[in-house]
Amino acid sequence: MPKHPPQDPGDSGLEIGSPSHHAAGVPAVLSSLRHGLREMGPVRTARTLALVNQDDGFDCMGCAWPDPAKRHHAEFCENGAKAVAEEATKFRADRAFFAQWSVADIERQSDFWIGKRGRLTEPMYLAPGAGHYEPITWDGAYGLIADELAALDSPDEATFYTSGRTSNEAAFALQAFVRAFGTNNLPDCSNMCHESSGVALTRTVGIGKGSVTLEDIEHADLLIVVGQNPGTNHPRMLSALETAKGRGAKIVSINPLREAGLSRFDNPQKLKGLVGRGTKLADLHLSIRINGDMALFQAVNRRLLERDAVDHAFVERHCGGFDALRAHLLEGPPIDVPATTGLSDDEVDALTELVAGSERTIVCWAMGLTQHRNSVATIQEIVNTILLRGMIGKPGAGLCPVRGHSNVQGDRTMGIWERPTEAFLDRLQTALGFAPPREHGLDVVESIKAMLDGRVKVFFAMGGNFLSAAPDTNATAAALRGCRLTVHVATKPNRSHVTGGEHALLLPTLGRTERDVRGGREQRVSVEDSMSAVHGSRGRLAPASKELRSEVAIVCELADRVLGDRVAVPWLEWADDYGLIRDAIERAIPGFDDFNARLVDGFTLPSPPRDEVRFTTASGRAELTVNHFVPVAVPEGRLLLQTLRSHDQYNTTIYGLNDRYRGIKAGRRVVLLNPEDIDALGLKEGAIVDLVGDDERRAQRFRVVAYDTPRGCAAAYYPETNALVPLDSVADDSGTPTSKSVVIHVEPASA
Ligand code: SF4
Repeated sequence: MPKHPPQDPGDSGLEIGSPSHHAAGVPAVLSSLRHGLREMGPVRTARTLALVNQDDGFDCMGCAWPDPAKRHHAEFCENGAKAVAEEATKFRADRAFFAQWSVADIERQSDFWIGKRGRLTEPMYLAPGAGHYEPITWDGAYGLIADELAALDSPDEATFYTSGRTSNEAAFALQAFVRAFGTNNLPDCSNMCHESSGVALTRTVGIGKGSVTLEDIEHADLLIVVGQNPGTNHPRMLSALETAKGRGAKIVSINPLREAGLSRFDNPQKLKGLVGRGTKLADLHLSIRINGDMALFQAVNRRLLERDAVDHAFVERHCGGFDALRAHLLEGPPIDVPATTGLSDDEVDALTELVAGSERTIVCWAMGLTQHRNSVATIQEIVNTILLRGMIGKPGAGLCPVRGHSNVQGDRTMGIWERPTEAFLDRLQTALGFAPPREHGLDVVESIKAMLDGRVKVFFAMGGNFLSAAPDTNATAAALRGCRLTVHVATKPNRSHVTGGEHALLLPTLGRTERDVRGGREQRVSVEDSMSAVHGSRGRLAPASKELRSEVAIVCELADRVLGDRVAVPWLEWADDYGLIRDAIERAIPGFDDFNARLVDGFTLPSPPRDEVRFTTASGRAELTVNHFVPVAVPEGRLLLQTLRSHDQYNTTIYGLNDRYRGIKAGRRVVLLNPEDIDALGLKEGAIVDLVGDDERRAQRFRVVAYDTPRGCAAAYYPETNALVPLDSVADDSGTPTSKSVVIHVEPASA
């Protein structure tokens, strides 16, 4: 094992090769091992990976893809292995590190470099005007937070952000603390990812979650994967697709980039995947123009109506809005498919043919759909397709928003939401005996704006890397710097930690891999995956430092310190017995009956559309909706940029500097462009350019790479390109930043 964590050589060694047409296989196994050995050494690698996603092990802290009922002994993917290695690393960002490196020096480093320094080991404090973080006691840290919160004129002057790694128990305790303190300012990473899905699904089918299980995926006869790159972002989904394929399913991939994972899957759990040719997945790939998805599904729905491929019995029995939708699609002007989608009419016909001929259709999607101005309407149009075909509430059929971070769905179930329903607040009040505030709080973008104009003075983050995840990096940095106090509960340092307020605190916490002993007993936590299955997670490794505290303990101890006896919640008893928190969850949140007992085997939360073909909308029916397509205006000479991840990246965590499937090695500052656009813009492959957005927002020095993507489209990695996403550019109705459709132009590099 190397003695020192890796450095970042910059892009000096950047190499551009050919994109791969298959995913996983031996290279994935080798990559998993390489990352594990570099961070953990051989013994720890073997021991830790053996516990990932196992019945009595810990839940992978990567994505929210569900576990199969029958577990393989290696129930993880390459990127799960990287996530585990990142957390279970033997490197330490301890007091010596912070004494050596000033905040200004750390800030000059890349996100990759900062993240690779290792685990935080004790609470650290950056005093006003100081250049270095210094150790502080837990008591001192809690006291500082309590004093700053007490000094606010209103509880609404604080905002409390949650990342999707936070367990159900910590999330429930946090929202209880924040609401008992007096605010609904509970922004979370959902605001930046699947908020659009939640809004569209709640409006149309009554629940803001997907309607399928893992078994449904395996039994579908048609799987349409839209705006999603499972090979990198949800790799074990490929196993489920392979199973469905083996049963005769057709798979359609709709994406501006042809991603390796949906082309061919070399399953590393099978001999055929390691030494054979693997499994071809997508039968049809539609290389759609960025933001063309709504027009595509409208065109499909129009064709379904024209050929009367509608499940009329289902529509009559369960749906409202059919006549209006029919009139809109059949009597309105026809959709100019090539102009809006970049696809041919034949391609739309081919998709329609598959949809019309399917008896069990599932549509899966991710950020490629949710981060546009018209995301909610786009997802509603997909719901139209599913409802017109009667594809909900039966095995092998339904809607599948694929969640990114491992417990992002569970955190929302637990009440991490700035816009809680009255019903949720009523139950919380009954369960916990205090009156929560009723006025809605601030989401991510609203919190940034409130920090910028001084309405919010305290920023508290339960995990995550807020600065690198949020849009408009410069504005977000100014927002954080303008706070009186910023607090980050974290396992490792990241860029947000060196962009703090007047006072800044780092509170080091246990990771999923680590043993959590409180009240003299080992505790376990629970999480909810993308398909509403709830299960336990228990770490086994010795904590990275004796000073670490669990997220649950930090929240509860802080709540006790801040609130005193203002509410009758037994915070310190909760901190020592997470079962008591689960009892409270059972009282407050439907679907968690016998929570402690049922956690042993895990259980799936109820879904009225899936379980009973019942829709809890205001009308009691599933709603077909009329959606108006308004394309993003892209002036001549401009491009539409999507920000995306590399294969060595999970959300804002940069595991490495390669993007193997796209043929990019040892660097990240690349912009992928259609070769004809490169010519038309007078560029050359390999040229170094700046990407320039609205108001001269600029991301500097990207190498031009010719890539198979539609004309007018560009792609580049975040967080490097987040600076180009204007704070005010958010999806209608959901407020999600429009990170997948950013109008830019390119200029010769300025520096
Ligand atoms: S698919 Fe997701 S949850 Fe599963 S091992 Fe990979 S990263 Fe982890």
